[in-house]
Amino acid sequence: MDSFVELYRASNALEAHALKGALEQQGVMVRLLGEALAGGTGELPMDSQEVGLLVQRRHLEQANKVLKEYHQSKAPWQCPSCGEQNDGHFETCWRCGCVPEH
Ligand SMILES: [Zn+2]
Repeated sequence: MDSFVELYRASNALEAHALKGALEQQGVMVRLLGEALAGGTGELPMDSQEVGLLVQRRHLEQANKVLKEYHQSKAPWQCPSCGEQNDGHFETCWRCGCVPEH
């Protein structure tokens, strides 16, 4: 059995689950750390409790790639044309319509 190493610490359970889904789509097995502390109620903790993501050591490199792509696609970006901050799910600047170069 491969040992698990910490890949990332998500700021909340929702982010952790979104990342877990993205990683598992790529065949990377994920364990969540910290979530059990809030368990028992069947509800996702909505506060800002950190949740660690653990992956097997042999998956670490691949997992980091998935993580990077995830953050690149979701991270807010600044418009190079007008300087406006845009949410990651916008592909064009909401203010001036500029398309950022990736
Ligand atoms: Zn703009």
